[in-house]
Amino acid sequence: MQPEENFLKIIERRPISVMDIDVKTLASIYDERDVYLTIYTTLNDSSHRYIKKRLSIMGDVVDGELKENLMKSVEMAEEYIFCNPLPGERSRIIFSSYVKGFLHVYPLAVDVEPMAVLDTSPYLLPLAKLRDDYEDYAVLYVDSSTAYLYMVRSDIVEKVSHLKTYLKNRHKKGGMSQMRFNRLRRESIEHFLDKVVEDLRREVSGTDIRGILILGPGEAKKSLYEELPKELRGKVIELLDTESDLKEVEIVRIGDERSLEDEVERSMRSAEELREAVLKGAPSAYGPEEVRDALNTSRVRKLIILKDLSIPGWICERCQRIEVGKKPPERCPSCGGLTSIVDVVEELYELALRTGAEVEFVLENDFLKSVGGIGAILRY
Ligand SMILES: [Zn+2]
Repeated sequence: MQPEENFLKIIERRPISVMDIDVKTLASIYDERDVYLTIYTTLNDSSHRYIKKRLSIMGDVVDGELKENLMKSVEMAEEYIFCNPLPGERSRIIFSSYVKGFLHVYPLAVDVEPMAVLDTSPYLLPLAKLRDDYEDYAVLYVDSSTAYLYMVRSDIVEKVSHLKTYLKNRHKKGGMSQMRFNRLRRESIEHFLDKVVEDLRREVSGTDIRGILILGPGEAKKSLYEELPKELRGKVIELLDTESDLKEVEIVRIGDERSLEDEVERSMRSAEELREAVLKGAPSAYGPEEVRDALNTSRVRKLIILKDLSIPGWICERCQRIEVGKKPPERCPSCGGLTSIVDVVEELYELALRTGAEVEFVLENDFLKSVGGIGAILRY
């Protein structure tokens, strides 16, 4: 598929969340020739040197039109490859293809391994793993009089709201009766909690957020939790008891820690779900070939991959036939098209995105390892 006109140039000028990158559309783009240059870089001297070396090696391997495209793709992206980081930027991803007039630049606030790849499509696997590690989440600090809501998006922290109730906890002598004071206080807290829920709903709706962590001292967390509409309640990772008056860095640190634990738990559950499905004969596939066939027929609901998995193979650049672990024939046996060497995992990941499957990376799992590092829960 060719990139659409409005998808040709995307140049972000400040660090963005990895979740803001449209991987689905990126995964739909490919060409028959190796015309897409992908660069992951940390923008320091050693990363600059490494990228330079990789580019020169790639230049030696290709020739003719491909070489010319590579040179011009580098030229087109040069000012974004060899430059200093923006404020808050830790790394960036660049996709460039001169012949397609295609240039995407994504500054990030998280770290990546430097790499440079020339392929038939933008190389998305490292980005996929980042997205698995850094899904967006919300942290809500709440006590009986204050609430802070933070959205943490790929380590970019945004404080989105800060609410306060204005009634003091203890009422001074004279003035209101205790009963009237208590009633006002209760109403004020209810109103306050309503506002917190409203803020949360506004911020979270429509975003692909992993979860909400609610923390703070005392009972306010629970009252808030009970106020939450069902769809928000389902997103709550945990209610966590903390001291009062937590600092922002503390709130975010706790949030990061818990959301990472949550991600590990979730990926373990996915691996377990796969094992159960295989054992019970529920719709499932394992091993790269079975998974590929299931993806080709759009049957995959969830693709589960060992994080450090790499499977050598080849793809036919014309009919997209993917074969595992074999030396590529010069011409595709199905259609006679040209073949090229690929990491099958990358191709399967792209297929998953194109067919709307969920993707889960698992750090360590014996069962998954025993079935070739890749499996899928199927729709039918
Ligand atoms: Zn073919």
